[in-house]
Amino acid sequence: MKVDVLVVGCGPAGSTCAYKLAKEGLKVLVVDFKRKPGVPVQCAEFVPIQLQHSFPEFFPEDVIAQRVKDMVHFTPWGEIVRMGSEGYVLHRERFDYLIAELAKRAGAEFLMRTQFLGFEDGKVVIENVDTRRRSFVEADLIVGADGPRSKVARLTGNATQKFLATAQFTMPITQPIEDLLIYFRDYIPAGYGWVFPKGKLANVGVGVDPSFGVNVMESLKIFVKELLKEGVVENKILGRTGGWIPAEGLKDVLRGRVALAGDAGGFCHPITGGGIANAVYSGSYLAEALVGGDLEDYREEVEDTFGPTLRRAALKRKKYMNRCDDLEYIVPRTWIAFPEYWRED
Ligand SMILES: Cc1cc2nc3c(=O)[nH]c(=O)nc-3n(C[C@H](O)[C@H](O)[C@H](O)COP(=O)(O)OP(=O)(O)OC[C@H]3O[C@@H](n4cnc5c(N)ncnc54)[C@H](O)[C@@H]3O)c2cc1C
Repeated sequence: MKVDVLVVGCGPAGSTCAYKLAKEGLKVLVVDFKRKPGVPVQCAEFVPIQLQHSFPEFFPEDVIAQRVKDMVHFTPWGEIVRMGSEGYVLHRERFDYLIAELAKRAGAEFLMRTQFLGFEDGKVVIENVDTRRRSFVEADLIVGADGPRSKVARLTGNATQKFLATAQFTMPITQPIEDLLIYFRDYIPAGYGWVFPKGKLANVGVGVDPSFGVNVMESLKIFVKELLKEGVVENKILGRTGGWIPAEGLKDVLRGRVALAGDAGGFCHPITGGGIANAVYSGSYLAEALVGGDLEDYREEVEDTFGPTLRRAALKRKKYMNRCDDLEYIVPRTWIAFPEYWRED
């Protein structure tokens, strides 16, 4: 098979890239080992409102679970810090599915249950995971949009090494919550706990740095106990998920005929773990650079747009988060809601 662009992964990064390229008439093939785009969800599902302004077609009513205004932070020393954070908690499975549908309607071809295996004689090897049938794809550009543990990035010598481990339950809440709730606790080392409301339910999760030797599920259970004691959630688990969050910042996004987008390229924020919007934007910028005729524009655009923010976050993580015994010192220096975070050091 011969295509202009092979996209590996139909998350927000890959599908957005495919959507924009197909609209410009390029021959695009998307492969993903999932059965259906968007399922299973491994996410707390918040996106900032700016993403809707940039991509209104990705935000029909039924994709939005709840609108939120602020992020409210609960510190271990008793201070509660509120920060504006307008946006939406999504139905992520519908969001991802919709972008993939838009890409298909624009002309991109999708092969589901198909995994990227590697490169051979200048071609890409893909395999149907049910039949084990292998085939070869010739492509002018290969887009690695295959998420945090990207095989495309690994095989091009460009993989993220540091991750946060996460675990999340979906739980009923006892009364409506209008904001995103963030908790800093010593049993969630170098990370945080979250309660992101979705109407009568909430995504309740923790992300920890696994190098502290803490079991992420144990950490989540302690967090849930605290929330039960405070009367925030009901004692019922309706769903479970989790996954890895890249915690290093931007990788080299272009290597020969391979470009990385989304989590595969380290676009996820190394401290907040927010990566959906950056995945969409990176996929979009990559498509624009290719259509514009100069892929180097992609490198420049993402460096200008994301470089300083992601570098700052990665540096703060490296500098301060090697301990978790003094949260009153560490949290203000490593979290975006505090003025200390924005001071140079
Ligand atoms: C628990 C958790 C909570 C999170 N909460 C938030 C949040 O609230 N807000 C936010 O902005 N971000 C959040 N994130 C991060 C966010 O989910 C990611 O940044 C986002 O999904 C990145 O999109 P992507 O398209 O780069 O990758 P993904 O969405 O991971 O998509 C990658 C795709 O590649 C496919 N794939 C992987 N390997 C192969 C292969 N070899 N062959 C074929 N296909 C392959 C996968 O099946 C997948 O469909 C969270 C992450 C986790 C784990």
